[in-house]
Amino acid sequence: VNDEIKISLSDGSFVRLDDCMADDLSVVNAARISFKRISEDLTESDIGLINFLMKNRHGTPFEHSSFRFHVRAPIFVAREWFRHRAGWSYNEYSARYSKMEAEWFTPSPENIRTQIGKPGSYTFTRMPTHTSLESARIINQSNKNSYENYERLVEMGVAKELARTVLPVGMFTEFYATCNARSLMHFCTLRAAEEAQKEIRELAKAIEKIFSEIMPYTYNSYCNNGRQAP
Ligand SMILES: Cc1cc2nc3c(=O)[nH]c(=O)nc-3n(C[C@H](O)[C@H](O)[C@H](O)COP(=O)(O)OP(=O)(O)OC[C@H]3O[C@@H](n4cnc5c(N)ncnc54)[C@H](O)[C@@H]3O)c2cc1C
Repeated sequence: VNDEIKISLSDGSFVRLDDCMADDLSVVNAARISFKRISEDLTESDIGLINFLMKNRHGTPFEHSSFRFHVRAPIFVAREWFRHRAGWSYNEYSARYSKMEAEWFTPSPENIRTQIGKPGSYTFTRMPTHTSLESARIINQSNKNSYENYERLVEMGVAKELARTVLPVGMFTEFYATCNARSLMHFCTLRAAEEAQKEIRELAKAIEKIFSEIMPYTYNSYCNNGRQAP
């Protein structure tokens, strides 16, 4: 169990590696089963094989390494994350069975941005300080008002599954997400990219950092081959 591997963001999100069964050696051994050969230690030739597999998009040997993450993120980030289906498994906090906590995402004023351009090619820039401060205040107040209505409904005896419908997508949720190294790379390709929304991008970068430490040669090969999952 890798309790110590946890990356927290200033907005209250985090990624914690709950456990993993992952290393570079398992990639080459999965590939070499074709010839009934096993490596005990990673050699230069094994590193070359990882590069060959990545470059030629032989992806299945990367599926034998798996990572289980415990994630805390706002619901709008979780919704984006859960769109990743292939090779991922999820379980999430239940707002039917448990009361939602009074914890919601409020962007820091320096992260309040405006969008310029057309859909698909937006660029984001900072706003004047007074607008940022006022925007952050409105976002926080709006979430607070919603949460107070939620609490009131729960106190009145309304079922949690119904009371939750007044809560916004900025509320924090927690989930377990398990994926294999191939699906992890695909996730990083899409979600650590500049086009992805900042709030999921930072979590994807945290995932990428953990991946780079556990499977360094696979990670290097992924970066050197255009950051495309094989
Ligand atoms: C910048 C950005 C903007 C986005 N905007 C929108 C948006 O406006 N609206 C919206 O709905 N979504 C949007 N998405 C989500 C996007 O459409 C995908 O749902 C998400 O990125 C997951 O990608 P994926 O399907 O490749 O991943 P996975 O579900 O993990 O699938 C991985 C790969 O497996 C294969 N695969 C998986 N399922 C199937 C299948 N059923 N049939 C065939 N092949 C399959 C594909 O090769 C796929 O690339 C956006 C994503 C990004 C990164």
